[in-house]
Amino acid sequence: MAVINKEEFNNKIFSRIEKLIADYNLIENGDNVAIALSGGKDSVLTLHALANYQNNGHKTYQNNKDSNDSKNEDFDFNLTAISVDEGIEGYRQHGIEAAVSNAEKLGIKLIQKSFKDELDFTLDNSYHHFKSACIPCGVFRRNILNKSAYKIGANKLATGHNLDDEIQSFLMSFARADTLKFSKFGPMLDTIHPKLIPRIKPLWNTPEKDVGTWAVMNNINIHLDECPYSSLSLRGKTKEFLNKNESKYPGTKENIMESFKKTILEVKSSNTNVNECERCGEPSSRVVCMACEMENIIKNGN
Ligand code: SF4
Repeated sequence: MAVINKEEFNNKIFSRIEKLIADYNLIENGDNVAIALSGGKDSVLTLHALANYQNNGHKTYQNNKDSNDSKNEDFDFNLTAISVDEGIEGYRQHGIEAAVSNAEKLGIKLIQKSFKDELDFTLDNSYHHFKSACIPCGVFRRNILNKSAYKIGANKLATGHNLDDEIQSFLMSFARADTLKFSKFGPMLDTIHPKLIPRIKPLWNTPEKDVGTWAVMNNINIHLDECPYSSLSLRGKTKEFLNKNESKYPGTKENIMESFKKTILEVKSSNTNVNECERCGEPSSRVVCMACEMENIIKNGN
């Protein structure tokens, strides 16, 4: 097996992220960027990559192109990390510890939120109302992240979605005939409501295995445990299916991504209509948002 040089590998991975940021204008001068930091490898790499980008601009990418360009001294943006503790006993606390240690190391402010404080219940004691724990987990986490990012005046919310996550989401939306979700694909989501902070995905074209290799090679403190609910989720099954196919037919993931880019990205902006939830006022395409509807089910049973 070929030995991987750490410096070359770091250069490759950071350079690819910087190129994506440049190609899609993910971050602009003066931006106030919030990062969703779970403490897992993807969000931790996002944190390190954006901190590096804040310090060096496109230097890694430019150096690889043998260019003399370096960071424009006037270019600057703000970074704040936000972690959300869903309340998964024996699991999430390790993630929060990794989030705290990485944010501290990089000197980035971390805001800590939890389901318990925000909603007065944990995922562990509420998920049984739903088919899968991942459904309320995702809805409430997104809701808390968006509200927290809005509160600090962030104009972008960076998430750790990598190439594998994006392909899985793409196939899951097909499997559920949920074509509305197609508008959420791509490295940057449009501003469709003033209270809905647009997502950016700096790892959009970074394969999951590269993220793992980066974390191991650089001895990064990350949360490695598998969520106890993940094996029951459609995402878990889709991931398993894709990994099996990739090892049998190399290039499967890349081909799916290419099909996705050719078809979905061209038509994605047409079907998004966002209003405000009549109960909490948060942006939603429904009259009552999913978070309020689920909170009602958990607290009142209807
Ligand atoms: Fe939440 Fe599901 Fe992810 Fe676990 S696997 S953290 S329940 S979304």
